[in-house]
Amino acid sequence: MTVGVLALQGGFAEHVHALNKLGVSSIEIRRPKDLKSPMDALILPGGESTVMGRLLRELDLYRPLLDLIRQGMPVWGTCAGMILLANEVEGEKDTHFAVMPISVRRNAFGRQLGSFSCSGLFTGIGDLPMTFIRAPIIQKVNKNVQILATHDNFRVAARYDTMLVTAFHPELTNDTRVLQYFLGMANAL
Ligand code: GLN
Repeated sequence: MTVGVLALQGGFAEHVHALNKLGVSSIEIRRPKDLKSPMDALILPGGESTVMGRLLRELDLYRPLLDLIRQGMPVWGTCAGMILLANEVEGEKDTHFAVMPISVRRNAFGRQLGSFSCSGLFTGIGDLPMTFIRAPIIQKVNKNVQILATHDNFRVAARYDTMLVTAFHPELTNDTRVLQYFLGMANAL
């Protein structure tokens, strides 16, 4: 199995490292020609969603990646990656791929509590370390979206069809179980 990791900006290296640890090959996606190599799944990392959204368009990656996701390529968005996938970003008129029926609120934990770690229950996995960095939360969801984790009653992980989103960053911990969960989702297709 080969996983493409969007590598324009933000925390892509940590995802590549976690994939390496599991012996899964990866491709860093920076330009359209990187999409020529076959891949089985896609990771959209954390970073700054507005910057990634702009770079995706400037580098002509927006349309080909959107097509791949629409065709059913399994995709996992962490933090900013989740914002890229959401159908609606609260208070903003711009969306990005807009393929997942969730609405998200950016920087939802406020500036004071911008970054923190805790542990929380993830459906199908159990207790997990969760690292949040200026994280978004999931506000509204359509009935087909399965919520997989909450923190303080905020929804912080969800699954819909071939898409997985986490507001926190499993790739910043040594725990690879969410990555394994995602690879399991991708393998099952
Ligand atoms: N606050 C960032 C955004 O809105 C997301 C932060 C992250 O990816 N760690 O894009």
